[in-house]
Amino acid sequence: MNAVTMMTRDERHSLARTVLEGLAIGDAFGELYAYGFENVRQRVAQGVPAGPWWWTDDTAMALGVIECLERNGKIEEEMLAWIFSRNYKREPDRGYGKGARQILQMIGGGESWEKAARSAFGGGSMGNGAAMRVAPLGAWFADDLSVVVTQAMKSARVTHWHPEGIAGAIAVAVATACAWQTRALPAAEAREVIGSEVLRLTPEGDTREGLKAAMQVEPMLSPAVAGRRLGNGALVTAPDTVPYVIWSALRSLDDYAGALIATVEGGGDCDTNGAMVGGILAARLGLDTIPKEWLEAREALPPLVA
Ligand SMILES: [Mg+2]
Repeated sequence: MNAVTMMTRDERHSLARTVLEGLAIGDAFGELYAYGFENVRQRVAQGVPAGPWWWTDDTAMALGVIECLERNGKIEEEMLAWIFSRNYKREPDRGYGKGARQILQMIGGGESWEKAARSAFGGGSMGNGAAMRVAPLGAWFADDLSVVVTQAMKSARVTHWHPEGIAGAIAVAVATACAWQTRALPAAEAREVIGSEVLRLTPEGDTREGLKAAMQVEPMLSPAVAGRRLGNGALVTAPDTVPYVIWSALRSLDDYAGALIATVEGGGDCDTNGAMVGGILAARLGLDTIPKEWLEAREALPPLVA
């Protein structure tokens, strides 16, 4: 890959916020069409409903990641745990999973994040929750993939101690950063670069094995079939979610709306799949390619701490 110029702080802010928008719209779109996902294409063609399209825990936690970065310039686990737990207390009904609720309640009750995260599921969570919120972090550090990897790991383990939970976050963060780095390349070339960098930097394990399999799945295959082959997030684990998401993002790199529709068509964890694909694509495409009515229909985001 060509050398990447170092980003200014303003560029980091701006790209991370763009990616947050893409993530939040993907989250809300996936949530909106999760019920009856098989018919999402026809339903969207008939006209999308007026807003608000509610965003869920994926966006709530991504807001937490970006707040930590804006306050601190990098991930500091203690601070991130505090922000997550504060946001959860404010809005506990955003659709957090059972495991996340337990961890955030422990942290809110004064337990250390490390003890809470380690104890979950008897060895740490391998859920897709660290990957679902990480795209803005990939954007923030998009000029340096080695920093993306270490920062994604730190952001993940606050709630996802298990190596697979962390691997999923690394894969999505790297994909987001690479989507920005390769934005000037035609989609076919960008797809090759993003795919190989994600494989190079994701640690060994089931998530990485799934990613290897995803690279072998033809882009023209239907999302439903690909989802059955790779897992579509129905198990809400990183290995069951992230390979499908990366496959789906890479096959539609120049089409935000088309990527979201296809991703949801594959079923599974629709809001989380949408959040990840939406974040990755916004890094390449910016906000201009997102349908205006989608942008306007999504529930507003709260102001971020500058
Ligand atoms: Mg959600």
